[in-house]
Order: sequence, then structure tokens, then C-alpha cells
Amino acid sequence: MFCLAYKLQLANLCDLVMDAWISHDLGENGFPAVDYISEIVERVPVGSAPWIYAMKSVHYFIAVFRHRDDLVMWSTSALYRLIAGNSEFGLGVLKSMRGQEVGMVTVDPRRLPACDYHVHGKEVKCPCKRD
Ligand SMILES: [Zn+2]
Repeated sequence: MFCLAYKLQLANLCDLVMDAWISHDLGENGFPAVDYISEIVERVPVGSAPWIYAMKSVHYFIAVFRHRDDLVMWSTSALYRLIAGNSEFGLGVLKSMRGQEVGMVTVDPRRLPACDYHVHGKEVKCPCKRD
């Protein structure tokens, strides 16, 4: 859905898709699975909202659940295949991890402000917010 909205340049629909996706993940207390992220990375532009959310999710999962190799969907092997198969995405994950300040808690990407994943600029009032 995001890809279609992006191609048609329907910014508000892109934002709503991201809101719905992240809301779903929060409601399920989950993250996109590695296989799903791999599909996303192949279909969306580098640096787009889904790409960034997927990248931040991988960063978060590696940092916070680094001891949980028993999670099949997020096993070390699965993460390796994801990063090795998508070098630009892997580079993004590494840059994100190395860019985190020492001693700072890794931010849950689902808890970031919704506008961090929206198409509109920071100086523009969010069209998705209802007053
Ligand atoms: Zn917004």
C-alpha cells in the first residue's frame, strides 16, 4: 500500500499507512519480521519511511534483544541474511547503531513521534493530526 501511495505521490496516504503499520505493531507488541523487512527493503526507496522504520527496528532488536538468539524470526542467521542481502540497508543499520551516543538507551522505533515517519517537513503542520 505504501508503495502505491508513494508512486502516486499521495503523501497523506503514505503517512496514514505508516501510522496504521506502527499502531498495529504496538497493539501486537511486535516488530516486523526479518522476512517481511527484506521484502520491504526491496520494494521501497532507500530513506523512505518504511525503510527507516525497518532499519530502526533492526537496530533496536539487535541492541535490546541481543541475547535472544532463540527468537527464530530474529535469529542471528536471519539478521545476517537480511543485512548481507541488502548492503545499503545493512550499512544504514550499522550507521544508526554507531551513531547512537554512548550510554544512551536505544529508542523503540514504535515510540517515536508519528511525524518522524511522515512525508511532510518538520516545519509543516501535520495533516494527520486532528485538532
Ligand atoms: Zn505528521
